[in-house]
Amino acid sequence: MINMKKPHFIIKNNFQKSSQKYSNLLTTKILKDVCKRITGHSEYTCEFDNTGYNKGRLATLKYKGKINFISFSENKASGRNSSFQSFPTAIVRYYEERNPKKKLFFYFLPTSGNYETPYFTFMYRLIKTAGAEFLNEEFLTKPIYPFATVEDIIASRDVNKGRNRSNNSTFLTRNSDDSIQIYGKTYGANKKETTILCIALSRITDATINLHQISEKSLSILPKPDLAVIQKLGNIKTYITNQTMERREFEQDDSLRSITYIFNLFVKFGDKKCAFCKCDIPQLVQGAHIWPVAKIKKEPNMSPQKKLKHAINGDNGIWLCQNHHKMLDLDLLKIAQDGKLKVKSGLKKKSVQYIKGMTPITELPKEIVTPNFVEYLEKRNEHLQDSNYCLLA
Ligand SMILES: [Zn+2]
Repeated sequence: MINMKKPHFIIKNNFQKSSQKYSNLLTTKILKDVCKRITGHSEYTCEFDNTGYNKGRLATLKYKGKINFISFSENKASGRNSSFQSFPTAIVRYYEERNPKKKLFFYFLPTSGNYETPYFTFMYRLIKTAGAEFLNEEFLTKPIYPFATVEDIIASRDVNKGRNRSNNSTFLTRNSDDSIQIYGKTYGANKKETTILCIALSRITDATINLHQISEKSLSILPKPDLAVIQKLGNIKTYITNQTMERREFEQDDSLRSITYIFNLFVKFGDKKCAFCKCDIPQLVQGAHIWPVAKIKKEPNMSPQKKLKHAINGDNGIWLCQNHHKMLDLDLLKIAQDGKLKVKSGLKKKSVQYIKGMTPITELPKEIVTPNFVEYLEKRNEHLQDSNYCLLA
């Protein structure tokens, strides 16, 4: 007979992808420590449940009508994708719990490897912002500060450092109307990062957040339980984007505000930053087509499918602030095929000085001026007489 007066652990014993058991991993010493930190008592009862799998590296600890969820760290700090697979599952499970007397904790198990890399630290901060308490934070050398603002999160993600950026990354930004946008792929480990990001964001802002789920072929979305939690948060609107939908819009609509295009620019360049002046205020920076969509649409003898491909290609664009975007679209500025910036001749001297003053970058870096990019430049510049332009530098 279980003495229910003592704190009582229930732990699913089986791993999903390994033959080891949680009963071997979570020793008496560890469980005592967890129990003491949560309830103030070291005495507990424990039940290892051999049905199903432990999803979320999770234990529950019931005491005095409260249910505590404890998610345990991986035993080995490895790649960014595998080390935080479990926590999102745990937080979803926590949100699904109907008992309002509930709490969510994170506990560091003895770990090998470097578990205080910038990425890990970012994730700890996100986990704390999402509402989890760290039971043994002293395990780390530095304290974990939750994020206070959306800008704080955007800056800390630091996707411009390159190594954090990939086709599977989740990107966070603001649009010109100040709305918060999340762009995320719906498969791979990053879909899980998206869930924590959404929960953390919803706890620090009441503003509307638009979550764009980018799928490539079939219509795929985040896992149903994750999506259900996200939709219950109240201020997150979820959208699905795939190529079938974008083609329909592309064929019907004159302007192309393609989500996939913006996502592709994020993958290529990282966070929004004007290529001409480095302005990185996300509300002021836009995706600017090199070969304009209106022209692509008028291209004779090209299938709609191919046109769309060009319209959403990350090589067919750069980030530009609103001023520079406008100047490029008015042909006041031109990007020559070698990547150098040119200004239209015949402008007032003061105007040229103004443009020079606000355009510190006079040549795009080589890594942007790829052969694909140059092809788009050629299309863009077809109608522009080079003799009408002078070098900006
Ligand atoms: Zn600019």
